[in-house]
Amino acid sequence: MRLSEHFMLDELLESQTARRKGIDEQFNPSDEIKLNLQSLCIEVLDPLRKEVGLPIYISSGYRCKKLNRVIGGALNSQHIEGKASDIKVKGMNNFEIISAIRKAGIDFDQCIEEFESWVHISFNRGNNRNQFLKASLLNGKVVYSPLKF
Ligand SMILES: [Zn+2]
Repeated sequence: MRLSEHFMLDELLESQTARRKGIDEQFNPSDEIKLNLQSLCIEVLDPLRKEVGLPIYISSGYRCKKLNRVIGGALNSQHIEGKASDIKVKGMNNFEIISAIRKAGIDFDQCIEEFESWVHISFNRGNNRNQFLKASLLNGKVVYSPLKF
């Protein structure tokens, strides 16, 4: 199923962990979740794809509650609602991706540079905070700080 110009539903559901552990509900999201994923693709990922002119790799999109628990995701993670994705772009570092998000003037909820490994971006219609944060590990705990430009 196609969600937007550049993204298929499968890309937003893919999880090797869910496959390995036989978590079937990961691959059967509700209509509400699908609509949230579609908004994320249309409002955030497609415009970013256009801005960078390169394929966007989604390392984690939707996470059913079971999968989120297994991987130790935050209890209130927007991934559970299908409102967030973790992304990478081959040949671009996180700072370049985040700069492209700013340049494209995308309306988003939270954009988080996570552990210098990927960029988390979410979309929450009507409640977008346009917040730039950085996630790092401090004594084994995740701490968030404002992202400096
Ligand atoms: Zn994330």
